[in-house]
Amino acid sequence: MNYQELREAERRIKREAPIFKEIPTLCYLPFMHIEATTTGECKQCCMATSAIMRDYSEIDTEELLELLDEIDHDGRDWLPGEKSEALLKLKDYMQVDKLMALPDTSNLSVKLVKRDVEREFNIPLLRVGEKDIGHWNLADNTLTDAFLGKFMHKLRDDFRNGKKPINCSRCWDEEDAGINSKRISFAEHFSHNDTIPDTIFTDPITEKGIQYIDLKLGNLCNLKCRICDSKSSSKWAQEDIDSLIIFDGIAKTKTMAPYRRLKLGNWPNENKNFWNDISENVLPNLKYLEFTGGEPLLIQEHFDLIQQIVDDDLAKNIHLSYNTNGTQLPTHAIENLWPQFKTVRLSFSIDDVGKRYEYQRYGANWDNVHNNITYMLNNKSDNVYMEITTTVNIFNIMNLPDIHDWLRTLPNFILEHSPNMSYWYINLLHTPEYLNICLLPDYAKTNIEHRLTNYNWLLPSHTTGYGLQNQFNHNILNVVEFMNTNVIIEPDASHNIDTTVLRAKAREKIFKHDYLRKENFQDIDPWLASVLQYDYKEMVKQWLPKTT
Ligand code: SF4
Repeated sequence: MNYQELREAERRIKREAPIFKEIPTLCYLPFMHIEATTTGECKQCCMATSAIMRDYSEIDTEELLELLDEIDHDGRDWLPGEKSEALLKLKDYMQVDKLMALPDTSNLSVKLVKRDVEREFNIPLLRVGEKDIGHWNLADNTLTDAFLGKFMHKLRDDFRNGKKPINCSRCWDEEDAGINSKRISFAEHFSHNDTIPDTIFTDPITEKGIQYIDLKLGNLCNLKCRICDSKSSSKWAQEDIDSLIIFDGIAKTKTMAPYRRLKLGNWPNENKNFWNDISENVLPNLKYLEFTGGEPLLIQEHFDLIQQIVDDDLAKNIHLSYNTNGTQLPTHAIENLWPQFKTVRLSFSIDDVGKRYEYQRYGANWDNVHNNITYMLNNKSDNVYMEITTTVNIFNIMNLPDIHDWLRTLPNFILEHSPNMSYWYINLLHTPEYLNICLLPDYAKTNIEHRLTNYNWLLPSHTTGYGLQNQFNHNILNVVEFMNTNVIIEPDASHNIDTTVLRAKAREKIFKHDYLRKENFQDIDPWLASVLQYDYKEMVKQWLPKTT
């Protein structure tokens, strides 16, 4: 989307939802939506730069006393002075109208929060011991607590008053750069395709409640995909512990970051109130229910919830959506539960085919995943729409034609971008930076570009029109253009990263996981191994000299 298209989108939104004429910077999401993150914090949406904070006045005394105990044991690195001084400082810092976070260090967005808050207030951020009481965390709280708390009230008021909240800076930055932000996409969607009356902005929020929830149900997962991390996969967290012990010589302790992530990521099992709150307070208004993870189809409570929705005859009101790794085949849901919902979207993460797929998505069996997807395509009800999502990274960019060839073998699979049809969605990986396609050397990029631009991205004959074919070719050209930019920016956006440094980091990461998994990337993809100058035996000498 360019600036002109963005302005046209804004004009369409104002036509469909007149309140945007008065307040062009409005966003639907804080008025209807809440997201649960894998570590239990809540956000108004996935683009928010920090989790929803909790005001000092919203913490009960018992919890504060617990915190003070914790400060004695774990807080040496964050607050100076005596308990009373610490408490006073805490009180000062935890006021919502100062937008001051006390973030958990396991939160990967800390750098962004830190940058934004420090720029705004010139105050350093502090960490509160083991337990992060500066946020509403779902290990102890509920979605309704967070949605109706002071932070969200203030955010909604800011939007009503035409302000641009700092927590939404990613959307403002994207719009300034002429990019279609999530705010604009949702404003178009809810003002036109799936209309939500714009009185949502003016009604007392407590009467309307949450209509859309995005549940990242902890980090329970059966795979440890190369592009993932311990925040999203419990298997990764276990491997991170082994890596720290073997390669960094760190003794195993319960305070290790991966241990904390294992604990934090288990919140859906720890808090029955979270599920009760959804059943009692959220379901009556609910229209959109998204599950991601971890692997959501491993979570029994999720099946209990959708069973309850069906039993209460609410499924016909709800659009259900999943991101899944495809290793599970929930036949009861396929046959009895999903057909009851208004629509169901299943997005399968497929990054390659065959042995290369199994290498990238460690723990998965390609034949099983292929059979599961085929079964669902053959047995799904008409309200179920399936997508394949490929996250393009250094491991798979050369192999996109092979994924396309596989897609064309699937029954009933139509490569068309339509809400009623199955679709192949190509997603560009930005982080971790050491797997970003921009880091590849120029000669490898030339080879990749040659393969991608000379391959015949033919759509099946029953799809209609050249427009669609052109759109697909355009998507592939976008991937090539991104690869050729050569610009990889640090997560804190402070500077570009040298690609030779990143290739060294890629070799290190590939080796450490190869060693722990008893794999060798040279056997999986000799061409890319040579491009990255990856030599397993040399890496052993470098990282484990005592064993050679
Ligand atoms: S403006 Fe952007 S970041 Fe803020 S709530 Fe809306 S979509 Fe999310």
